[in-house]
Amino acid sequence: MVNLVLEYDDLHFLPPENCMETIDKLVERFPDIKLSFFSIPYLRGFPVYADPEFCDKLRDHISNGNVSLAVHGLHHNQEEFKMYSYDQAYAALHMAESIFEEAKLPYRKVFRGPHWGLCDDSVKAMVKRNYTHLYSHEDYLELGESYQGKIKVLYYNWNLADEAPLEEGLLNKLIAKIAPKTIIAHGHTHDTCSNGIAETFDKVCSYIENNDVNFKFVHEV
Ligand SMILES: [Zn+2]
Repeated sequence: MVNLVLEYDDLHFLPPENCMETIDKLVERFPDIKLSFFSIPYLRGFPVYADPEFCDKLRDHISNGNVSLAVHGLHHNQEEFKMYSYDQAYAALHMAESIFEEAKLPYRKVFRGPHWGLCDDSVKAMVKRNYTHLYSHEDYLELGESYQGKIKVLYYNWNLADEAPLEEGLLNKLIAKIAPKTIIAHGHTHDTCSNGIAETFDKVCSYIENNDVNFKFVHEV
């Protein structure tokens, strides 16, 4: 049995980041699936609450236990959380949370910076705002280690562009230590980096069908 976290970046109602159709397909095929989305609160000038119909559908998936939302920056500007001061990061996190609240979309205090961008001040602001998990990148290993015990820092060990890891944990010893027997599979809600949720649909379905998996959300690791 392996814990499987399926996490995708960039969910928003604007195309191409809107992948509601594929979410529906995955939930229909695997009624107990758990899909985590690092969502953008305010993309290209549009707060996510500007599309109530999209929010209603998403809220249904959340209340049925199939979807969980995490915070993926505020505007998704290039590496915004790499440039912010402590005050800017704190304000941006607060605003991101307020937008999800205005949309009546339950979310988790789990964060990943747009384009992975992070800095010490941004992580400090997350800790202050009680974020529990930071999904980061190996480029930021040192930053992660300096916050041990304050926020759980995790890294993916299956880029969905690649073939599935044969033995969980072996590919990334760090993950094996932090979250044993866990595969954190990373992709996007749109077809980019060859790991889009639609373009990797068959690969993910076949992995689920051929392995004994225990679905986990990003906040459950
Ligand atoms: Zn992104």
